Amino acid sequence: MSDLLKIIGNVHRPTLGEEIPLSVFRAFRLYSGMYLKELMGNRGAVVLFQNAGRELGKAVGKTVPRADLKSYLEEIEAFVKDSKIGLLLPERVEEEVAVFRLEECITCSGMPNIGERICHFEVGFVAGVLENFLKRRVKAYETKCNAMGEGVCEVKLELKDAQNN
Ligand SMILES: [Zn+2]
Repeated sequence: MSDLLKIIGNVHRPTLGEEIPLSVFRAFRLYSGMYLKELMGNRGAVVLFQNAGRELGKAVGKTVPRADLKSYLEEIEAFVKDSKIGLLLPERVEEEVAVFRLEECITCSGMPNIGERICHFEVGFVAGVLENFLKRRVKAYETKCNAMGEGVCEVKLELKDAQNN
């Protein structure tokens, strides 16, 4: 999967460059989500996006030094900011539970209330990052989302005894 990161990093667009309008990313994301939901049901679509995000989180986690959890998370926060995914802010990180806010979320920030939480990929990403550090499966939930009218994107993680997820 980290090979995939290298592969997609090769961009050759001499005229158009590397940047795209965020609305294009969101269109890809939400139209895919809508179609997947139709195809696999809500639960299936959530799991698919979340697990894809987990893989990315693990791949990114492997590129980051891991002396201790605090400095590891700081590296991840810098990556999330530099990649303009959002501003990842640890709300609480404890033995069994961690809560992160994702301000200015790439997917949902500024979106009106559409009555559902939609940032399954981001949730998976944060879970994958923690999984890479802790070397075990963690359960993850989106507990707030701008698309649900909750004013922020928030991820809650269960860090203990969650191998069966
Ligand atoms: Zn979000």
